[in-house]
Amino acid sequence: MAERDRSAAGRQQAPGHVTFAGAGPSDPDLLTLGVARALAQADVILHDRLVSAAVLALAGPQAVLVETGKEGFGPGMAQDDITALILGFARAGRDVLRLKSGDAGIFGRLGEELDALEAAGTGFTVLPGITAASAAAAAIGQSLTQRGRNADLRIITGHDMAGFAEQDWRALARPGAVATIYMGKRAARFLQGRLLMHGADPATGLSLVENASRPDQRVIATTLARLPADSAALTGPAVILLGLAPRAAALPAALPHSAYQETAR
Ligand code: SAH
Repeated sequence: MAERDRSAAGRQQAPGHVTFAGAGPSDPDLLTLGVARALAQADVILHDRLVSAAVLALAGPQAVLVETGKEGFGPGMAQDDITALILGFARAGRDVLRLKSGDAGIFGRLGEELDALEAAGTGFTVLPGITAASAAAAAIGQSLTQRGRNADLRIITGHDMAGFAEQDWRALARPGAVATIYMGKRAARFLQGRLLMHGADPATGLSLVENASRPDQRVIATTLARLPADSAALTGPAVILLGLAPRAAALPAALPHSAYQETAR
């Protein structure tokens, strides 16, 4: 079979191709070069609400931008509608970029969308991104793992489809335990209650990092005892870093990327 025929047959079997990418926490300096290239080349970009305007400004002039509105498990377009859109554009032969904040594979429903593509026989590529917890840890000058302190790191959510999410509280309550808690603002009192119930020290240090890597990034140093009160002050997306207090030298949080300003497209 001639090369052209073979590729035409391949396209019939597996129509279209979709690139899934993590846009990082907001600052375009935290994009990979590959994601920046995908942004410049895509015809259609379907992005979550948390993808910043500064990142979207790197889209090419040909790009059609579609906001799908989802934030983790939060409200937005129905997942089936998003999947149908992605498949529709891919089948029409468009260069489709599915852009999610942070890393697409962390509380981004990536698996569900990949399942749908696989079922439809549509090809895909996944480009990793810097997740919010990595940016938050960098902001407080802390290592997420540390010899002699924590040999494991938990990435957990404050709530899931069933409500507040249950976790291995016994492990999380141990001295030295480190966890990064996404979507934890509204679950703060629940988290506090569960951890104290399992023997955690109320003086355990925590950091709240809001708008990580954005110009309005804010770091709040707190303790388990004060977690609900201090979480109430948060208005933007925030990660709770359990077991990690900000290093004094990292405060006030100087953004490493001072050139970054949120810009409209
Ligand atoms: N895929 C994303 C997470 C999406 S879930 C990632 O890997 O980062 C949405 C949650 O992520 C928010 O509720 C918040 O807890 C966290 N988050 C996303 N962007 C953030 C940011 N810039 N600063 C702090 N937390 C952020």
